[in-house]
Amino acid sequence: MHLDAWTSLVLLPLVLFLISAGYLLFWVQDRSQAALLWMVGGTALPALGYALRLSLPQAQAVLIGNAVIMAGLAAQWMACRVIAGRQAWLWTMPVCAGLWLAETRLPGFSGDIHVRLIAFNMLSSSLLGLSFLELRRTQGGSRFANLWVSGLLLLQWASQFGWAVLNLPLWSHYPASAALTASPGFSYLMVLTVAATMLLSFGIIALVREPAELRYRQAALIDALTGLGNRRRLDEYLDEALRRARRAGSCVALIMIDVDFFKMYNDRHGHVAGDTCLRAIAEALRAGLVRRDDQVMRYGGEEFAVVLPDTGEPAALQIAEKLRLAVHRLALPQAGREGGVVTISAGIAVAKENAAAQSLLQAADQALYLAKKGGRDQVGRAGPGRASG
Ligand code: GH3
Ligand code: MG
Ligand code: MG
Repeated sequence: MHLDAWTSLVLLPLVLFLISAGYLLFWVQDRSQAALLWMVGGTALPALGYALRLSLPQAQAVLIGNAVIMAGLAAQWMACRVIAGRQAWLWTMPVCAGLWLAETRLPGFSGDIHVRLIAFNMLSSSLLGLSFLELRRTQGGSRFANLWVSGLLLLQWASQFGWAVLNLPLWSHYPASAALTASPGFSYLMVLTVAATMLLSFGIIALVREPAELRYRQAALIDALTGLGNRRRLDEYLDEALRRARRAGSCVALIMIDVDFFKMYNDRHGHVAGDTCLRAIAEALRAGLVRRDDQVMRYGGEEFAVVLPDTGEPAALQIAEKLRLAVHRLALPQAGREGGVVTISAGIAVAKENAAAQSLLQAADQALYLAKKGGRDQVGRAGPGRASG
């Protein structure tokens, strides 16, 4: 295959610039992803380097163009460091460019463009190798995307390094003016670089965005004030528990909890104190649950819901009572309240096979209403007149 110098060198910068624009677009959408910004440099600088090779006179073209490409490959290496959760160093960009420029000053390198080209490929492929090693250290994230990206980096490293090694014995056979394009495999190397950079961008974007999306998905299920699961999480978890109970033929208990006279608490102590009080209650409820599957979530306002998989009414009643006493023990002062401390009321309901989440919530709410009606600071059970406390 023979691509003429213009085709290969115009096509390459153009495609690389387009890819770097893609990285920029993704970074603008989520500026916390520093790796994407490093990749903007990691593709735009090589694009610029290749463009410089075209536009400058031959002698400076390789020198300056390659220095810019080296800085770009250093940026790509830094992107891989960020993905691996490590610190990125800006100084690697000028240092890598300088390394190349310094190398061209060495005796034996300065006069011969072939030697320089081979030396450059060796240097640049070592940066690709460093990027590869960085990614192999990465933990978490999608394994497939990681394999995809590191595989492509390895392929690029092997082809660049291989090209340099294969051309080592041949350099003296080529006239200087043809050095860039006439050496064997150069066109393949160009096409491979374009294809690999494009495929790499899909993998890197997936690699960077996947952990972020997982974080957003998890954050969407957390209540900001208390750190407990929120209403959406409750719906999810209750459905899951009911499904499992149906399969296992067991039952699920639900405790609905409501802070007593909380409007009065806010009126007397202020909303900020009210928030602190809710956080303390949330923590006490969480600490009061022993089994991993027993989960407390904030239902909304000053109301909480506890899901107890594989639990019958006697055990649920015990746990509800334990939680009520745990809030008592917090001894959060509440002026104007009998007993002088913040208390909660709770209602329990137990779902047998085929019960729907909605009816379980309603039953627990009904039980809670009974506890309130019975004088608050107590646990109510579904069914008329069955409050205990
Ligand atoms: P009851 O014993 O019957 O439950 O009386 P209550 O005052 O607790 O009931 P009500 O539902 O009338 O009041 C609930 C109050 O909870 C009203 C609202 O201002 C307060 N509240 C709800 N969410 C928050 C919150 O996030 N922070 C604070 N500080 N207050 C909240
Ligand atoms: Mg309420
Ligand atoms: Mg209340």
